[in-house]
Amino acid sequence: MAADPFSDIEPFEICSIRPPTENNSLTFRLTRNCYWNKCGFCPVYKFGARFSRRTLSEIQKDIERVGRLNDLMDEAGIGFYGRYASSDSSDYKKIHDLMDKIKRSGKTPAASDQTPGEPPDVQADDPQLAWFLQWFKDKPCIEDSVNHVWNWRVNGGQTCFLGDADSLILKPDFMGAVIGKVKNEFPAIRRFTIYGRTATAARVQSLSDLKIMKKAGLDRVHFGIESGSDEVLSMVQKGETKSDHITGCLKTREAGLSCSVYVMPGLGGRKFSDLHAHETAATISAISPDFVRLRSLQIFPQTPLAHARDRGEFIEAPEEVMVREIRTLVSEIDAETTLMSDSAANLLNINGQLPRDRNAMLQEMDAYLGLSPRQKEVFSLESRLAAFRGQYGGFSEDIYTELIPYISQGKLDLASIPEDQARRLIHMIRAKLMP
Ligand code: SF4
Repeated sequence: MAADPFSDIEPFEICSIRPPTENNSLTFRLTRNCYWNKCGFCPVYKFGARFSRRTLSEIQKDIERVGRLNDLMDEAGIGFYGRYASSDSSDYKKIHDLMDKIKRSGKTPAASDQTPGEPPDVQADDPQLAWFLQWFKDKPCIEDSVNHVWNWRVNGGQTCFLGDADSLILKPDFMGAVIGKVKNEFPAIRRFTIYGRTATAARVQSLSDLKIMKKAGLDRVHFGIESGSDEVLSMVQKGETKSDHITGCLKTREAGLSCSVYVMPGLGGRKFSDLHAHETAATISAISPDFVRLRSLQIFPQTPLAHARDRGEFIEAPEEVMVREIRTLVSEIDAETTLMSDSAANLLNINGQLPRDRNAMLQEMDAYLGLSPRQKEVFSLESRLAAFRGQYGGFSEDIYTELIPYISQGKLDLASIPEDQARRLIHMIRAKLMP
């Protein structure tokens, strides 16, 4: 009897957390979770997920597992890897058939390679936490693996993200061996990116090590700098300083790597709002990163920052104050860079090149700041509803139930929603948006 061609198919480990620009990338986990795991605002690897390093042979096996899935999709004519982005409705049936065959092969994929350090099953009473945790997966399973490879293929199959939280801690030859193996297996991949910590770039990696990574094929490092203010960084236990940010990012750029920094409006709360904005603008001016990405603060339940807020030690900055912070950034950044709002946590969609688009971006923010308090509220509701629809393709049942009384003749009249209900609805939607 011929061997079952699906019996050797196994799931591989996927990076649940990656930059929005890498949502359609193929991902491999070089390490698991975050060794620092202290940032007060960050819910990502809390709740029991422990840091661990993976061996080169574990990662190589994962690359080969993706290779097998990729070959099966080639044979089944699913997507068009490496040539152009395409998918049609017949793909859904083909994927369903493929999954069926894999499952019928008798393997128990989700149990085949359990992850050390995986978080215990968290009982999340808070709906926001429950919502978040359902997207965060630390265990490999075959459904996620197949869908991940499929999504990557139909989006062109040309980008790869190597996680998790700080891949800069790896030795350059280790990184080179991984990238070499991925390139060998998938020659159409054109871009490799990672998350890194500026403290690692500044204090651990030498310039020559970063150059070796660049030569091996690494293209870009995404740094979550969050703030340029040492007071704010210390308050949220970032474990990095303004000096780390500047030194680490400049070294990265000098090595020829693209440098992308995430900034978090609102992180200083009311107390440090001005300082946060001015110091962050100065830090970015010193770095001249290729990209500045805005990701406004959203406080997750059971994080250190949520506890500080509940104790009255951290007073949240209202949306309007966050917009003023972004205004300060746009006014004061003295560097050539691209500013992007690629997070659903942002109220306004401020995008452009600095200094070229400075005035247009300022005008957009001034238009919002010039609205009356009630107009701002309606604007916020409209913007959050659009973000929710963009992220999930429609409204969830609870949101829809809240909106029904305000739909007349097929049109939603947001201005007729009473103030307290509008505020509650905004809060409800923000709690469900993935930042
Ligand atoms: S370093 Fe990144 S992943 Fe780790 S705790 Fe801080 S924000 Fe979260």
